[in-house]
Amino acid sequence: MVKTIGYAAQQATTPLAPFQFERRELRPFDIRIEILYCGVCHSDLHTARNEWKSTMYPCVPGHEIVGRITQVGPEVKSFKVGDLAAVGCMVDGCRKCPSCVEHVEQYCEEGATFTYNSRDRVDGSVTYGGYSTQIVVNEEFVLHIPKEFKESDLAGVAPLLCAGITTYSPLRYWKVGKGSKVGVVGIGGLGHMAIKIAHAMGAHVVVFTTSQSKVAEAKRLGADEVVISKNAEEMKKHANSLDFILNTVSVSHNLDPFLELLKREGTMCLVGAPEFPHPSPNITHLIFKRRKIAGSLIGGIKETQEMLDFCAQHHITSDIEMIPIQKINEAYERMLKSDVKYRFVIDMASLKAEA
Ligand SMILES: [Zn+2]
Ligand SMILES: [Zn+2]
Repeated sequence: MVKTIGYAAQQATTPLAPFQFERRELRPFDIRIEILYCGVCHSDLHTARNEWKSTMYPCVPGHEIVGRITQVGPEVKSFKVGDLAAVGCMVDGCRKCPSCVEHVEQYCEEGATFTYNSRDRVDGSVTYGGYSTQIVVNEEFVLHIPKEFKESDLAGVAPLLCAGITTYSPLRYWKVGKGSKVGVVGIGGLGHMAIKIAHAMGAHVVVFTTSQSKVAEAKRLGADEVVISKNAEEMKKHANSLDFILNTVSVSHNLDPFLELLKREGTMCLVGAPEFPHPSPNITHLIFKRRKIAGSLIGGIKETQEMLDFCAQHHITSDIEMIPIQKINEAYERMLKSDVKYRFVIDMASLKAEA
């Protein structure tokens, strides 16, 4: 076992604090990664505070991990010591159900093993995430960092592992590309990635926001048009015109004004999980134009690699604010106020310095 330090929540109501634990010795197909950067996702906060009522304490969050390989197991084929590598939201799956076989391990019928707050499939231990100096993961769940990314890009690459793939996967699944008119609702961690990726896919991107102050920002990120969603007149101009809407808002809101903007057979995909349900949509909006409401969860490992390669080719990284790990509790408070553009990323050198 290898001594590791991280930051953990010991209970729902206590702040994250230094925590010492052990990472396992390598199994034949395992890789040990020294973590350089870890993005801060809203799920980290929800889990640390037991807002989804499923947290096993102590809890070490973090699933947007970028680092360097320091050790590989004897059977590892596709990575070597010294390589850059990334780990996202999952570290294992059953590998035999239809979802695993079809490379959508996030929908594993036996339940995927998530990077933190899951049970290891071999020894039953609780998984600990990226707010730590190192992590051990089976090579099949480790991603390659494309060579096009420079050393200085790496912190901005970390959020691609959750925010990036969460938006890339539905955009791909619903075949967004040249000639599509796509709506993005919300400009947060997810929304800002959705705008960049949809724009790079060649779509005409219409961004919906409630705040006038975000118009210029949305355009900078790649929006072709920006609509203030509270303005009914502005909304009306886009009625029946969108092929697809990616709704990234994670608070309960009225879906009807957006459904009316979809073309016949258009889909609105929701990727934000609100604490309270959205008010029921007016089903008439669905029936009369065969419109659809859908959901989507992150993406499979193969698709996550495809997303990283796509982002590297298109020079896409997340806009970030780097923090030392000692500021994580403050970052959570700011995240709740949406006071971040657009993702906090922890510089793990700050944790090593503390050790
Ligand atoms: Zn996440
Ligand atoms: Zn499975």
